[in-house]
Amino acid sequence: MADWDLAVVGAGAAGMLGALRAEAGGARVVLLERDADASSNLALSGGLFSAAGSRWQQAAGVEDSPARFAADIREKAGRAVPPPLLRRVTEGAREAAHFLADVAGLPIHLSRTAHFPGHSAPRLHATPAESGTELCALLRDAVRRRPGITWMDGADATALLAQQGQVTGVEVSAGGTRRPVAATWVLLATGGFGGGVELRARHMPEAAGALHIGSAASDGRGIGWMQQLGAALDCMDAYQGQPHLCREGRGGERLGAALPALGAVMVNLAGRRFAAEDMGPSELTAHVLAQAGGAVEIWDAAAQDAALRQGPFRAAVEAGLVWGRGDLSALAERFGLPEQVLAQTLADAAGFARGEGADPLGRLRWGAPLAAPFFAAAITGGLAHTQGGVLVDAGARVLRPDGGAIPGLLAAGGTACGVSGRGAAGYVPGNGLAQSFALGLAAGATAAR
Ligand SMILES: Cc1cc2nc3c(=O)[nH]c(=O)nc-3n(C[C@H](O)[C@H](O)[C@H](O)COP(=O)(O)OP(=O)(O)OC[C@H]3O[C@@H](n4cnc5c(N)ncnc54)[C@H](O)[C@@H]3O)c2cc1C
Repeated sequence: MADWDLAVVGAGAAGMLGALRAEAGGARVVLLERDADASSNLALSGGLFSAAGSRWQQAAGVEDSPARFAADIREKAGRAVPPPLLRRVTEGAREAAHFLADVAGLPIHLSRTAHFPGHSAPRLHATPAESGTELCALLRDAVRRRPGITWMDGADATALLAQQGQVTGVEVSAGGTRRPVAATWVLLATGGFGGGVELRARHMPEAAGALHIGSAASDGRGIGWMQQLGAALDCMDAYQGQPHLCREGRGGERLGAALPALGAVMVNLAGRRFAAEDMGPSELTAHVLAQAGGAVEIWDAAAQDAALRQGPFRAAVEAGLVWGRGDLSALAERFGLPEQVLAQTLADAAGFARGEGADPLGRLRWGAPLAAPFFAAAITGGLAHTQGGVLVDAGARVLRPDGGAIPGLLAAGGTACGVSGRGAAGYVPGNGLAQSFALGLAAGATAAR
């Protein structure tokens, strides 16, 4: 008999949901984490996750359903998303939100900070601080409280163990020695491949040179092990771009995706707008990166107050990366922008926001017209996380190209194919965590059966 019913590799978004769900179903679970002090993508994230038809939406009078969520994803990501996966993620995201509250004991609410593009209803949920750091810490506390989950930190998985195509466990390096951990099921939840230079060059050349702001542990090794066992890969060119990176920061600081929905505009160093800021943040990234010398994002006091509800924005403010409360002259001087051109740009934008004419760049959602005092930050673009990976069924079992499942092997989160289609444009905010939570839950249920 195997030592464990389930060995989970990776204590991030998908791994912790898998471990909690399997334990709740009576399974003996070991959770192997390479380095709990290093930031996972969960901890680095904005902590906002999509869920449709939740009780928090119902309490707020928001009409939504998994079917509507699926239709929104289809609209954005097209036909590339496998239908069974789409169904599992859109239904499972609601189950996951309720599971997080009812089983893991997390304080969940429906975020009303901003309406993000790609969602036809408010459906981003979060813990109180609207931050991935908080969400990760709360989940880790929940995992550590569960008597049926054995947590091993400093346990670096180095290989999958398999006999005649059946996965039997995982090899782990801990404390300088390698040893096998035998399990009936292995859930590989080690994250995507944003930090894997060679994999990025092979699968997503368009973003190969972009600054990666995700976890260095997302090196794609888990995907490689599964591929060697015959797993099918899909949507490997899909990723989330990040257009609100602070150019004056140390690398990962960002403003968060709420600002355009709160009325912010972006200008280049000539003082001119260059894109419809209300498109999805992922596809906006290429437009920001195309501006020689970077760009400047500008908003006002009302947007500042609203954005402060979200963790990444607060962190950027605390790091001194947001300039603020100045008039147009001070704004132009601070960022080296031609004042007259900038004045015309902001006047035009205010006019479009009031409904006076159509924006030639095609922006439709404006919020209230911006008014001084202004706030601003120098921005650039980067790569947040990848969205392609192995194909799984509704129980998170890893599939071969012929549709058969690899016995004993489960995947969720960044190791598995997401619901973002191809390239950058299919990603909708909140759907990285939605897939990780929904498939993590599905994997845990499979292992508990
Ligand atoms: C900057 C940024 C912002 C984001 N914001 C959002 C957001 O607001 N909403 C949203 O939905 N999504 C967001 N995402 C995406 C989201 O964070 C990911 O989709 C999600 O965290 C993926 O979960 P995961 O469990 O696969 O990976 P992770 O959460 O990264 O967890 C993987 C874990 O595996 C461990 N690990 C790796 N290799 C090994 C090994 N060999 N042995 C043992 N352990 C190992 C890692 O240390 C890590 O703890 C964001 C991502 C980034 C980078």
